[in-house]
Amino acid sequence: MKKGYFGQWGGAFIPEVLYATFADLNKAYEAARADSSFWQEYVDLMGNYSCRPTPLTFAENLTRHLGGAKIYVKREDLNHTGAHKANNVMGQGLLVKRMGKKRVIAETGAGQHGVATATMAARFGFDCTIYMGEEDVARQRPNVFWMEKLGATVVPVTDGSRTLKDAMNEAFRDWVASMDDTHYVIGTVCGPHPFPEMVAWFQSIIGIEAKKQIMAQHGRMPDRVYACVGGGSNAMGIFQGFLDEPSVELIGVEAGGKGIATGQHASRMVDGCGATPGVAQGYKTRFLQSEEGQMLDTHSIAAGLDYVGVSPILADLGEKGRVRFESATDQEVLEALSLSMRIEGITPAMESSHAFVQAFKEAPKMDKDQAIIINMSGRGDKDIFTIAHAFDDPSWKEFIVKRADEYRK
Ligand SMILES: *Cc1c(COP(=O)(O)O)cnc(C)c1O
Repeated sequence: MKKGYFGQWGGAFIPEVLYATFADLNKAYEAARADSSFWQEYVDLMGNYSCRPTPLTFAENLTRHLGGAKIYVKREDLNHTGAHKANNVMGQGLLVKRMGKKRVIAETGAGQHGVATATMAARFGFDCTIYMGEEDVARQRPNVFWMEKLGATVVPVTDGSRTLKDAMNEAFRDWVASMDDTHYVIGTVCGPHPFPEMVAWFQSIIGIEAKKQIMAQHGRMPDRVYACVGGGSNAMGIFQGFLDEPSVELIGVEAGGKGIATGQHASRMVDGCGATPGVAQGYKTRFLQSEEGQMLDTHSIAAGLDYVGVSPILADLGEKGRVRFESATDQEVLEALSLSMRIEGITPAMESSHAFVQAFKEAPKMDKDQAIIINMSGRGDKDIFTIAHAFDDPSWKEFIVKRADEYRK
């Protein structure tokens, strides 16, 4: 198979000026991969700085409540900065150090990848510029605040719809002019080769740990593994622990938004979602796009799943039938989140709650001696504005108004 392709998906569709930069990146990545001391350095760093290995929690109360398969939760929420994103950015940070570059750039939509990248840059002493659509800068003020306090420069992008894809274009523009000393930290298993493969490699630490942990706790492989899918990095992370175990069913859960039939969703793999093959943002995958190839507006209550494309690796695994894809609606997500909080005391991020929805639908129909793992990609604390608004909590509104009044004085 051609390098960087997964079946018909993937590739590296990049402007000629970036060929040399990508050649250098490929060389550094392949050398790191061939050098076991690099992986050990990465594992040590994650143990020392980001709470790895993260626990595999047996969700005893949820298991009893739902009355079927044993439910285990892989706790990526306990990573530094609250999600699996730390695995990727810290890995790329080590690689940047190895390449001798001094500056990193990234694009961010909801701001989570921006905060993670700014954190990594602070730790390694890199200069850091984060591109963010002007619209998103306004919507995600708390994350912009943290990025700036971590020492990053946040550049609001005023082109186009002033959201994620415009920020991505601007980041590529920067890279063309700065590639000698700058690395572009792509945030998920998408974009041109080697990013999908490289990010999947860093995230595989989730699956490596989970496989060992489930063997120790349950004594055999799980029957099913669930993960939410935005770009696909947390899903690829945990799935890699089980891809070679044909008895383990892998389920990717996409953002169903207001329902697939409404068109207001961010699902690219489920039946009827409307996604079609295309080449954009440097790679080939299934995109939510018009017949003319214009990217469509997507919707999800979970900002991290609100993306037009999907990992080429997952597009291939879906096409081959190795990963089953489902979707969860915004409403279902809120219900699963409430249940997890009330009876298990865990608060999954809106994104992660999508995986919980599908697991909760299926677990009751399974036998008590079966087991499933839900990948909890992140913690819900970051979502307090969205969650409180969605629950229409009156005392929260009062609090916000009171705070605003204090600032007006
Ligand atoms: C960013 C994010 C996601 C979506 O990204 P993937 O690459 O699909 O994993 C999911 N969950 C959380 C908590 C996130 O922050």
